[in-house]
Amino acid sequence: MPNAVLRLALPSPLRRLFDYLPPTGMSTSSFEPGMRVRVPFGRREMIGVVIEIANDSEVPAGKLRPAIGRLDDSSPMSPALMQLCLWTAQYYQHSLGDTLSWALPVLLRQGEPAQAHQERFWIAAPAASPDDPRLKRAPRQREALTTLAQHPHGVAHSLLSQLQLGRDALDGLLTKGLAAVETRTQAVAPRHEHWLAQPELPLNTEQSAAFEAIRAGLGHYHTYLLAGVTGSGKTEVYLQLIHQCLQAGKQALVLIPEINLGPQTLSRFSQRFNARIALLHSAVNDRQRLDAWLAARDGDADIVIGTRSALFTPLKNPGLIIIDEEHDGSYKQQEGLRYHARDLAIVRGHQENVPVVLGSATPSLETWHNAHSGRFALLRLTQRAGNAQPPRFLRLDVKSRPLDSGISEPLQQAIGQTLAQGQQVLVFLNRRGFAPTLLCHECGWLSECPRCDARTTLHQRSGELRCHHCGHVEYKPRHCPSCRSVDLRPVGAGTERAEERLRVLFPDYPVHRVDRDTTTAKGAMDRLFATVHQGEPCILVGTQMLAKGHHFPQVTLVAILDADGGLFSADFRAPERMAQLIVQVAGRAGRAEMPGKVIIQSHLADHPLLVQLTEDGYFAFAEQALSERRGAGLPPFAHLALLRAEAHKPGQAEDFSIRPARSPKGGWPSMACRGWSCSAQCLRQWSGVPGGFVRSYWCNPRRAHRCTGCWQQ
Ligand code: ADP
Ligand code: ZN
Ligand code: ZN
Repeated sequence: MPNAVLRLALPSPLRRLFDYLPPTGMSTSSFEPGMRVRVPFGRREMIGVVIEIANDSEVPAGKLRPAIGRLDDSSPMSPALMQLCLWTAQYYQHSLGDTLSWALPVLLRQGEPAQAHQERFWIAAPAASPDDPRLKRAPRQREALTTLAQHPHGVAHSLLSQLQLGRDALDGLLTKGLAAVETRTQAVAPRHEHWLAQPELPLNTEQSAAFEAIRAGLGHYHTYLLAGVTGSGKTEVYLQLIHQCLQAGKQALVLIPEINLGPQTLSRFSQRFNARIALLHSAVNDRQRLDAWLAARDGDADIVIGTRSALFTPLKNPGLIIIDEEHDGSYKQQEGLRYHARDLAIVRGHQENVPVVLGSATPSLETWHNAHSGRFALLRLTQRAGNAQPPRFLRLDVKSRPLDSGISEPLQQAIGQTLAQGQQVLVFLNRRGFAPTLLCHECGWLSECPRCDARTTLHQRSGELRCHHCGHVEYKPRHCPSCRSVDLRPVGAGTERAEERLRVLFPDYPVHRVDRDTTTAKGAMDRLFATVHQGEPCILVGTQMLAKGHHFPQVTLVAILDADGGLFSADFRAPERMAQLIVQVAGRAGRAEMPGKVIIQSHLADHPLLVQLTEDGYFAFAEQALSERRGAGLPPFAHLALLRAEAHKPGQAEDFSIRPARSPKGGWPSMACRGWSCSAQCLRQWSGVPGGFVRSYWCNPRRAHRCTGCWQQ
């Protein structure tokens, strides 16, 4: 085959493959798909992945360039991972090279060898003895040898000083042949015979039904939705399934949302099992990530736990995939390769023939629909495990009631009573900062972001106006930029303002704020939670960071300051997200013997979705919301496309989106008869990019021809 070429995927946005000749002196027969190859690309070098060995190329033979070198002796990727990447690139219309690049650990992308970290180990020679006559006059060497002899697997070079082993003494032993140096990876812990480090809890009836159903399906693909109210013992079901999987000699992959990666979650896994657990999340450094990835690939890790991107971890013996809190927004990657880890998990389960378990107290409507249409098996847990009581909901109509920094009079009373009873209160408000807008009382000027057209949020403590969309920051003006008036007033309330007001209203109790502004310091969150767990009466104010993962047994009152945003938004998913948040926040409370109460402030206290949610629960809400989506022709009953225009000037982005819509023929088909003034049908979204202007339109092809409110009759 004189023309045989390497067909490579390169990390570039171009959706095509690139042909190269093998490096000089090598033939294509020493390559296989998945291997990394260094190649010249323009004036740069790049690392590509072999996709196939082709017999001929469309590129004229004279123009083909040889690759520079081969980085692997065998493919670092498992064929299954390769297959998943191919599928992903195709489905999300993303370049294959870029997709592979997202899927590989950073160090492999950069060309590091696909090998676990190597270290030098000092080890005593087999027959060496501290009584050796040659050591008589060398007490330090004798001591060193004694220490080494206590470590039959050797002492890592990096630990020498900790064990007070001096280099001189060791070198002396080395020359005498009494010690040796080995370079190898950290000794791999052997597989365990007894997987359980802690007894399993006896499952209740619902838990065992769910457990048995999934256990019976181990070894085959099927997707299960474990829909269980908060605290119903889903995690216990996962743990027992993982145990089954380990006993069968298989590995389990567990995905959890970033925010749940607290020590609480992880310790439940490590306390239960004598297993080798590989962790893959954003706090893990590149080296640890590669080591964990390799351990999973080679079967040296039994359980892999990670966030979204851990889905792309190769597994030698996959047995089970679990997606905890499957509805969580963090499973969707919104930049670069835009993928949904939950959806890809299902594809992967299918490809590798293993069951996929989706767990949630508040399943996404897409998943709920799939469970009802029979694509997924529905397993319900309706009771809280143990004897915790479900919380009671109270809708508080705030129409025409004065709000004091977002807090109504009846709510103030309820908070006061709870604190007086020695219990804790959680106040939830999904808006950081002091106030969502700054308004000029004289002329009506509103603080807007100069870079995108979102309103900027006032952060009182730092004296700044910040755009939560694009990150723009400026100082809070002293005068109105438009009329010079000094009467600038904050409108609405954010967590900072609520915190400030609560401190004034309840001066005898500590008020803790939990949002992205207060918890950036390392360990700040853990310290705060430790304080709260001591159980003294206090108020917690915060954003959705409070809604997930953590349990506050002493909290008996949860206040949701503003449920209206979710009911009014132009984003069709807003009510779903609002309902999920309310349920999740409510689930933080009353886990012990004290039942919790949830007060929801709203101007639309009688909104059917809110009534359904609070009276009949999330699943009834989901039915109602789905039937509304069906009526409106929205997902999952129809497909939507998002058109996104990015430009440096607002007009250009606008132009791009409007022009095709206005042209009588051609243009964006789904935009052809739409105007964005009719919000019922034109769901529009704003977002920002640094230094640019972005405008996004959701288009709904099915509704397009019924549009009456816009420019075309
Ligand atoms: P979820 O994951 O659904 O929120 P968890 O698994 O965290 O629920 O369970 C909530 C609490 O109930 C935990 O403290 C857990 O130890 C306990 N629990 C779970 N299952 C049982 C059971 N079968 N018997 C007794 N306690 C249980
Ligand atoms: Zn003004
Ligand atoms: Zn902005």
